[in-house]
Amino acid sequence: MNQPDIGLCVACQHVNIIQNDRGSQFIFCQKSQQDDSFAKYPRLPVIHCNGFVAKPEESNKNEI
Ligand code: SF4
Repeated sequence: MNQPDIGLCVACQHVNIIQNDRGSQFIFCQKSQQDDSFAKYPRLPVIHCNGFVAKPEESNKNEI
């Protein structure tokens, strides 16, 4: 699954990308556990989302 297929979710803190035994990937929205208005498995690509929170940038992960 490439990024254009996913849309916003790929860069969101609330996403959990699940891979099954056959290698298929699923986008699970963890926001759905707090708020019923969010789908557990959003229809992709997600273009607009009120729950989107950007993941910290990769460069920040290496900072002490
Ligand atoms: S909050 Fe929105 S952008 Fe974030 S994972 Fe859920 S559906 Fe995707």
